Amino acid sequence: MPDNNTILLAVQTAAARHGNDPANLVQILREVQDALGHIPEEAVDDIARFLDIPRVRVAGVRGFYHFFHDRPHGRYEILFSDNIIEHLQGKPELLQQMCTRLWVEPERMSEDGLVRVGSTSCIGMSDQGPAALVNGVPVTRLNMERVETMVELVQKGVPLSQWPADFFQVEDNLRRADVLLGEPLERGAGVRAAVEKGSDGILAEIDRSGLRGRGGAGFKTAVKWDFCRKAVDTGEECSIVGPKVCDNTAATVRYVVCNADEGEPGTFKDRVLLNSHADLVFEGMTVAARVIGARQGFLYLRGEYRYLFDKLNGILAQRRRDGLLGENILGSGFSFDIVIHLGAGAYICGEESALIESLEGKRGTPRNRPPFPVTHGYLGKPTVVNNVETYALAAKIAAKGGEWFAAIGTAQSTGTKLLSISGDCERPGVYEYPFGVTVRQVLADCGAQDARAVQVGGPSGTIIGEGEFDRRLAFEDLATGGSFMVFNRERDIFEAARNFSSFFAHESCGFCTPCRVGSTLLKKGMDKIASGHGTCADVEELKRIGQLTRAMSHCGLGQTAANPVLQTLDKFWGDYEKRLISKEFEPSFDLDKALAVARRITGRDDAWAHVSAD
Ligand code: SF4
Repeated sequence: MPDNNTILLAVQTAAARHGNDPANLVQILREVQDALGHIPEEAVDDIARFLDIPRVRVAGVRGFYHFFHDRPHGRYEILFSDNIIEHLQGKPELLQQMCTRLWVEPERMSEDGLVRVGSTSCIGMSDQGPAALVNGVPVTRLNMERVETMVELVQKGVPLSQWPADFFQVEDNLRRADVLLGEPLERGAGVRAAVEKGSDGILAEIDRSGLRGRGGAGFKTAVKWDFCRKAVDTGEECSIVGPKVCDNTAATVRYVVCNADEGEPGTFKDRVLLNSHADLVFEGMTVAARVIGARQGFLYLRGEYRYLFDKLNGILAQRRRDGLLGENILGSGFSFDIVIHLGAGAYICGEESALIESLEGKRGTPRNRPPFPVTHGYLGKPTVVNNVETYALAAKIAAKGGEWFAAIGTAQSTGTKLLSISGDCERPGVYEYPFGVTVRQVLADCGAQDARAVQVGGPSGTIIGEGEFDRRLAFEDLATGGSFMVFNRERDIFEAARNFSSFFAHESCGFCTPCRVGSTLLKKGMDKIASGHGTCADVEELKRIGQLTRAMSHCGLGQTAANPVLQTLDKFWGDYEKRLISKEFEPSFDLDKALAVARRITGRDDAWAHVSAD
């Protein structure tokens, strides 16, 4: 346990590095935890004092994020990714093997403080799973042999830096490239075009391209950017006015945010973009800044991708040296810079307003909308939030023109889309397709000969069966943020839906009752059916709760949390039916059986037998 002076020094150092700014609370907490191993109560007191904010806010933020700990959690923390694909590939058995060999219970630190083994939501490695985070660093391609070696390394106390390098190897697994990843763009070409064409010129190209946000919702990028550049900060209120266009010398401060909190289970294409095409992403953010008149940008990087943090900062530094970022970009008078903000394990921060809350150093609770971030975003200022892939595409469009892009894909879904393909196929990885490709074509390309179902767009998306494989991936048919999980004929779709309902119950931020309670009831209902106590009455209850959760929840997480259950009940009823024991209600908990031991110990069964006999 660190002493008070050590704690004070850690807090002082982290707070000073972040300008004692409460907006950097999440980053300060992360650095304090790095220094101390956890965030003790004394550190919470010190942080509150240094930042001049209520203690309860610091404690509340610490308690919100899965990766923050208020007590020691072991010299080694091993968290297995709980994605359904990795689950089906043997994650439960591997976790159990590791726990048995280390003599620990899952989710509990060993008595000697050496290790804790547990689970976490998808870490974005399902193309090379089962995978786990060891002290925040991904270890891929786990099998029994690798687990045995890890056990030995942990028992001997070998530092992570001395573990075999291939344990930490993360492959891009890029299997199909099209105009985004297959045709290199000269470094700086997008920024140069933005400087030359100016805000109006670039916005016109983005508009002509028909580009829509790649996070899944598909909002038109040009419309979003235009709203933001016309938003004027009048102090109390911020509103959209036109046609005046702001530049970055105007009074209104604007921000560009890149949402790299890729948390939808089964999605990992942003990992590949950031690992191998980060210049393109930063280039797109700079283009957006030129259009809306922003001086400051943030890349919100999910905590699970922390291993990319230093590499990305290195690329930013190089771009500054090359005059592509920072003051007076390419001598144009336009200035813009980017800071990387690390998340700390909260799926909900992928929702744009929750992400902004997190950027401001708060719990990631989704805001009421309207107002939208384009008028009231980071620190209440007009802010554009886009997906990693959207920015990469914007850079290309700036350089090559909107018409070039609009000629690809379908009328309503122009351009290409990156898919993260995992599950029962021979070649999992990242595939780039023009919009409009059929699911059947994708399955053929990735070697999924025996597919029974595909989960498109992750748990919050859509599951389709064989009869729908001719549907097209496009906003007008099957919209997707990129996740494409394949299940073969041997897979039990009920188990997939149960895994997804457990995921939503775990990731609900707890702010609103319909989602907090509804997602938990859905999980419990699925667990009851899995345990063999399910009835038709339970199924009806699941439907009722699912509809309520969908209709009454505050944000997209709650509104889609029931999708896996409702859709699979509809499309894969047989996987439920075979588990149901009767049509009548059956309690999941047998009170009489549970009390049998106590009755035996106290002899009450005998006493009751006497009474009955009398
Ligand atoms: Fe939080 Fe769920 Fe409500 Fe969204 S719907 S605000 S995640 S509790």
